[in-house]
Amino acid sequence: MRVVNVRLGGAYRELTLPSICGGLKKVNESRKSLQIQKTFEALFALEDIREIFRQSLPAGFDELQQEEFSNAITKIKSIISDLENGEGKPACNRVGKLEPRTREEEFINIHPIQAAGRLTPEARKAIISYGDGYSTCDYCRKPFRLDKIARPPIEEFHQDLAKFLNMDQARVVPGARRGFQAVTQSIVEKGDSVIVSSLAHYTEFLAVEGAGGIVKEVPQDENHIVTADSTALKIEDVKRETGKLPALIMIDHFDYQFANEHDVYGIAKVAKEYGIPFLYNGAYTVGVMPVDGKKIGADFIIGSGHKSMASVAPSGVLATTDEWAPKVFRTTQMIGDLTGRKFGIKEVENMGCTLMGATLLSMIASFPRVKERTANWEDEVRKSSYFLEQFLRIQGSKVLSEWPRKHTLTKVDTTGSFDVIAKTHKRRGFFFSDELKDRGVIGEFAGATRTWKLNTYGLTWDQTRYTADVFLNIASKYGLNIS
Ligand SMILES: *Cc1c(COP(=O)(O)O)cnc(C)c1O
Repeated sequence: MRVVNVRLGGAYRELTLPSICGGLKKVNESRKSLQIQKTFEALFALEDIREIFRQSLPAGFDELQQEEFSNAITKIKSIISDLENGEGKPACNRVGKLEPRTREEEFINIHPIQAAGRLTPEARKAIISYGDGYSTCDYCRKPFRLDKIARPPIEEFHQDLAKFLNMDQARVVPGARRGFQAVTQSIVEKGDSVIVSSLAHYTEFLAVEGAGGIVKEVPQDENHIVTADSTALKIEDVKRETGKLPALIMIDHFDYQFANEHDVYGIAKVAKEYGIPFLYNGAYTVGVMPVDGKKIGADFIIGSGHKSMASVAPSGVLATTDEWAPKVFRTTQMIGDLTGRKFGIKEVENMGCTLMGATLLSMIASFPRVKERTANWEDEVRKSSYFLEQFLRIQGSKVLSEWPRKHTLTKVDTTGSFDVIAKTHKRRGFFFSDELKDRGVIGEFAGATRTWKLNTYGLTWDQTRYTADVFLNIASKYGLNIS
């Protein structure tokens, strides 16, 4: 049994992980699973108490409610006792057809897109408290816009966001994709070209398409990197072909396929020289590493709340400069022809208000820790590199992303290692998922043993070492050479 320190709620606590030498300690594993189930059971029972309060308005509990309350309390006490002792029968815990999601409590999760969107405990508390529909709107006052609400401190959060990205103004948006859309719909005209990377995310394509534009991809070099020179060449190509400059350049700082770093600084410079607005896609950066919009020279910075800011989906941020704000954040001019109604300062691209409930509150609640964690980015990359160095000891394994790594998301190739085993294993590629899961690790694409992606973001050093050991352990079980 190995004891590792796990960061929970800011404090380090001890968590017992199964020893890799002796294989899984099933008894302890199931005790832990039971305790996790008991935790959910207790949380759900507390929600039932909350409901009694709601139902008992205005007079307080009637006799039946008092009885329900007492029963719930008794139940909670017994759940807590089971939880403490790791005893009892697991409850069903199903909510309708939904099973409680316990992956993050039960496993080390190396899923490529889930790692940095895992909620902080603060965010989890915010969502139970602000889960009701329009919960942000309790104190919404004139001029009635989400980003102007002072309580909870949503206006302040918007200012903090802009400052965090070193931009002039920021808005929250339902996902990075909706940020792309707000920008393309306000500056791309029908038939306009938009420069994107040949590693661009599909949502960038769709945002351009929705605005009636046409994507023009900058080729990647042999190392899968998009450079300033190739961007300039593409701009020239577009100019020659269409007689017009592109309307927008949108480039991912780190792409989703390799998480390679692209020359956003150089590309922003090229954009400036041509007078083309530059959108920095920070889906994989904003919230995990420092991002300075002014230093980059970006006209727009876009981040994803659920990918990199420990927030509920769909959430994200769109930040811009005072120069571009009047355009992307333009307010409604529409007047009803019968009623003469106007809607003041509602922003057209944001449909007035965007994230109106727990989604936004989760962003706000996670934000202090998110800000803090960007300072630890280098250590996150070091952990990832450590993991990969161990992984590369397994003969036939490769890293397809750039090396040395600058990100915690990595594309690996196990065609020459785990896939060789899969070829003759009765479970085929699933043998690998099975073996990982048996050792408490999930998140790889189930069944994939050729090229796949993983993300170690947020693992502690002990968890990182443990995960590396798991890979080596599986390799040696199947007789793969380890150097
Ligand atoms: C995940 C991702 C997106 C989409 O982000 P959402 O917040 O889910 O809309 C866009 N671009 C890149 C590069 C991504 O990795």
